[in-house]
Amino acid sequence: MNCSHHIQWVIEAPNGLHQCAQCFEAVAKKDITPKFEDLGAELQKRWDAHEARAAKPAAPAPA
Ligand SMILES: [Zn+2]
Repeated sequence: MNCSHHIQWVIEAPNGLHQCAQCFEAVAKKDITPKFEDLGAELQKRWDAHEARAAKPAAPAPA
């Protein structure tokens, strides 16, 4: 599939990941359209904040 992973389709996925709602692939900053650098501070902040949630050490798995 040839998908540009446009930012409008990118949704937050569990574990700090992002996912494209068009093709359902996991996407990284480098994969999206337009470039992450061009998104604007608001979106960049939201992306980083979501990613940071997964950067924490994993909680012990529930028994
Ligand atoms: Zn996509």
